[in-house]
Amino acid sequence: MSEVRYCKLRGEKVIIAPERLHRPSYFDKPKQEDDLTLCPFEPGSEKATPDAIYTAQDKNGNWTCRVVPNLYKALSIEEHFGSKRIGFNTQESGLGAHEVIIETPQHDLNMDHYTLEQWQTYLKAAASRIKDLSHDIRLAHIQVFKNHGAAAGATLRHPHSQILATAFIPPMIEREIELQRAYFQKEKRALLIDIVSEEIREEKRVIYENSAFIAFTPYASLHAFEVIIAPKEQKSNLASLHTDTLKELSKALQNVYKKLYTVLGNFDFNMIFKNPPQQIEHVNPNYFYQMDQFFTFHIQIIPRLYTLAGYEFGTNVHINPVLPEMAAEKLKEEKNG
Ligand SMILES: [Zn+2]
Repeated sequence: MSEVRYCKLRGEKVIIAPERLHRPSYFDKPKQEDDLTLCPFEPGSEKATPDAIYTAQDKNGNWTCRVVPNLYKALSIEEHFGSKRIGFNTQESGLGAHEVIIETPQHDLNMDHYTLEQWQTYLKAAASRIKDLSHDIRLAHIQVFKNHGAAAGATLRHPHSQILATAFIPPMIEREIELQRAYFQKEKRALLIDIVSEEIREEKRVIYENSAFIAFTPYASLHAFEVIIAPKEQKSNLASLHTDTLKELSKALQNVYKKLYTVLGNFDFNMIFKNPPQQIEHVNPNYFYQMDQFFTFHIQIIPRLYTLAGYEFGTNVHINPVLPEMAAEKLKEEKNG
């Protein structure tokens, strides 16, 4: 059973999740599972996972995307929310949800080969799960993310993403909210929307643009070849995007991954969906005032080209060896589809 502990020294929470230890190949050298009979996400092996919470099907009735509870979950939806003092320390129950999006039936498919339809199916699945989980008023934040490749923390080859919903707002999200709120109060505009306008004006870091989204290498990229995909007009939540907007986002993702794979080869990466937290009882309602106007939904792609080391862990200051303008230059050379 998991629990959430608070670290007084750093002012951060940590999820202590012993069930994660039982994941296959956790202690082995990270290896990618290529024997299809061992892959739990193959069509025909549906019994290897808990029952699907969400399924998308093609016209022949075959599934094209499934969402299942994570067998090696970090948090559990069956827990009751509660916090208690244990001597000097504070402990919260391991309440939350941990799900896996099996993005496609195809074991070896990299994202640069996803069709526009596959991207739309995938984004619809993520949006639908966020919508559904947001009905659970005990959950404060729903994080959708993808680890691809051993260097990014993946233990299975089959294309999948994860959803981790917590009863607390993670510290990095809190920090981003404070920065975006402060900017909005002063300028009456969303910070990321102003960054996007500036990037379009400057041009040199924009690698892709369509009617609703742009993709760019951020001015102060923490990581080499980091890419942000952001809306051109304020959109706060993936779950409330219209079908047309989701299609534009799909086009942006399809193009960005094609460019990244062409420039970087077969690379490991993390993809992070930045979505706002949701209002729950034990968070002050004022905290959420105008959040849909200042918190901008976006997607961050972080290629894991090298290992983060002592300085990054010790200080949270990153050393990026690639100039973002140069990364953009390379990615721009690849033409758009
Ligand atoms: Zn597979």
